[in-house]
Amino acid sequence: MSRNNTLIFTATLNEKDNIDLLSRKILSLSDGYDMLVVDDNSADGTGQLLDRLSEEIPRLYVIHRPRKLGLGTAHKLAILYAIKNGYKTLVTMDADLSHNPDDIPRLLEELENNDFVTGSRYMPGGSCEYVGSRKIISKIANFLVRFLLGIKLHECTTSFRAFSVKMLSDVASNKIHSEGYSFFFESLFMYHRLGYKCSEIPIHFKDRATGKSKISKTEVIKSIYNLLFLFISRILGKSIYVAPHIESLILCYNCKSPYLLERFAEKTAKVINKDTYKCTSMNHKSNPQVYSCLECGLHFASNITKNLTEYYSGVIDLEYLKHKPARVKTFNENFNKIAPYISKGGKLLEIGAYCGFFLEIAREHNFSVTGVEPSIWASQYAKDTLNLDVKVGTLDENMHNLDKDYDVVVLWDVLEHLNDPVACLSQIQNVLKPGGVLCFSTLDVDNWFPKIMGSHWPWLMDMHLFYYTRAIMEQLLKQSNYEMIEVTDCCHYISVSYLIDKIQALMPFSNDYINDNIFLKVTGLLKSVAPKNILIPFSFGDIKIYICRYNGS
Ligand SMILES: [Zn+2]
Repeated sequence: MSRNNTLIFTATLNEKDNIDLLSRKILSLSDGYDMLVVDDNSADGTGQLLDRLSEEIPRLYVIHRPRKLGLGTAHKLAILYAIKNGYKTLVTMDADLSHNPDDIPRLLEELENNDFVTGSRYMPGGSCEYVGSRKIISKIANFLVRFLLGIKLHECTTSFRAFSVKMLSDVASNKIHSEGYSFFFESLFMYHRLGYKCSEIPIHFKDRATGKSKISKTEVIKSIYNLLFLFISRILGKSIYVAPHIESLILCYNCKSPYLLERFAEKTAKVINKDTYKCTSMNHKSNPQVYSCLECGLHFASNITKNLTEYYSGVIDLEYLKHKPARVKTFNENFNKIAPYISKGGKLLEIGAYCGFFLEIAREHNFSVTGVEPSIWASQYAKDTLNLDVKVGTLDENMHNLDKDYDVVVLWDVLEHLNDPVACLSQIQNVLKPGGVLCFSTLDVDNWFPKIMGSHWPWLMDMHLFYYTRAIMEQLLKQSNYEMIEVTDCCHYISVSYLIDKIQALMPFSNDYINDNIFLKVTGLLKSVAPKNILIPFSFGDIKIYICRYNGS
């Protein structure tokens, strides 16, 4: 069906009592409007109601997201939707009838001479039904945003806004960090700062027609943090929004959505070879382009289809052996975490066993152990030095070599490396017996540490193709017939010298070609005097251990 020029968007979370009236009202205003509603899996049946309405009303489009993914990401999704479907203008508003649909034509009229228009409660002629503390907080928030970010409008925090889609396609929406309510002032700051024509019209804002306000205390704290971050970037004059919108050419690996935003830009190493893919790789300044899906929240590299088997099979990692005490302590900790959930002395398979340090521990606990490992060197080490049954190659290549009734299957820091992790989860069921336990550790991108570190997050590397969230992992496990029974933080131990190596690799000024770099000299000296037997625990919550049960197909 061909699209109109104007898209009206709203996001819903439990708006069953309002959305019917709102959507009918909006679409009755003009035949030239289409409407998009993004529902975050409302518990009150809003999603089902929207499906019925969209069957009845042809210009109503609905996107269902699997869970609450944030108001900011819903609005970013609307922006991408408007761009991809060729709309000329986009209007966004709340779904709770606090914004009057009759104001939409006035917003669009004002947009004819501007790139962005917001409905304004606080300009002359505007009004707001808030009373008491809500009124004071709203006014203070608007004052602070105007003052700290230098925006010359009376309203900076409402969602009732109109955009020229040409402007939206010329700016980098992926650079907007906010995922919640602060999205509104951050995006306005971006348009204002880039010199787009921003205007406002007076509106009357009704207090919520039904239900309670959904702004939590955490959301308020996040907004204050984001406001200060933007204020500092303004003071420093940082150009944070200069890149244009980047059109994604692929679909989400998980939900097949085309609405993907670049979360991390590509940084390319001069040379990519087998050393890039070894466990102790220090290649922290190189990573593929990473997308985040606005419909399901998965983060994944744009090159997930690239075949890396050759690199992994050629890995030789002598450095790893030097750090055996730290690795063994980490694996002992992992073993202790999964021990309450696994029967003693059963059959255990490790996928991606590397040099076999974990298998050695499991064998000490009377497990009959087997491993598969693509690195020829690492699997040989496990066989020859530790006398372990480790088969070279991937799980797929070894299917015919493996038993079909393992009690436990483990994968430590493996799922983020695979081209097709869902296929792997499914293949495991050919070797794991019903009732058996699957344990693995993997990255969690929905954590404070990667959010604060941004593109300097140490696990953003060429070898990592998938960056999960707990919610996504729960969904993938459920789809693959696993019952998630426990999720816990993983604690990694590292030696002082390894920590220094990591810091050296992460620092922007520690370029290899600067031979007389003082930083490298000082850290090198520290390394030479560092005590060898001290192991430092690291647990920021950005690596999680999942313990799951396979209940049979
Ligand atoms: Zn997705």
